[in-house]
Amino acid sequence: MGPSGAGKGSIAAALISATPGLWLSRSWTTRPPRPGEAADAYHFVDDDAFSLHADEGGFFESARVFDHRYGTPVPDPPVGHDVVLEIDVQGATQVRSQRPDAVVVLVLAPSRQAQGDRLRGRGESVETVSRRLAEADREEATGRALADHVVVNDDLSRATAEVAAIVEDHRSMRDQGP
Ligand code: 5GP
Repeated sequence: MGPSGAGKGSIAAALISATPGLWLSRSWTTRPPRPGEAADAYHFVDDDAFSLHADEGGFFESARVFDHRYGTPVPDPPVGHDVVLEIDVQGATQVRSQRPDAVVVLVLAPSRQAQGDRLRGRGESVETVSRRLAEADREEATGRALADHVVVNDDLSRATAEVAAIVEDHRSMRDQGP
């Protein structure tokens, strides 16, 4: 979890390709695709389809983030895989209450300047960038209270290696049992 523009998506993608046995959940969203965004970045749906899936109990967690709805479908990973969710702080709060054993990692940008640069680089509007930056302090405070680990994304490879080490530690603790 972490504020928008912290680099969660880049870390998650690099982590999945470097670490065997991880499975990345694909979220649903009512946000329209951004120009150039991969068609499978999300399961893009309209508001009615999202509501229907929610009414059917199809989401593990869901939240309204800025102007749109986002949700993690009930995970269905291949056998023997650990699930990776890339979500906001509200969603992580729901996950933590449903699965106290979840490992919650807060990803932060090294500075608000770097976070703004990342959002602008994605083609976000000036208004969106300033709203997301304004929200970041609140999200960071809530996130720090919830997180098991805080990772600063000052360098993608270093930050990914740090998250991979966290996964490895938790796997070995789990394998050793209580
Ligand atoms: P974006 O629109 O920039 O792709 O995502 C906006 C925010 O929503 C990001 O912080 C992202 O991590 C979060 N997000 C993406 N998918 C989900 C989800 O399934 N659940 C929740 N709670 N947040 C999500």
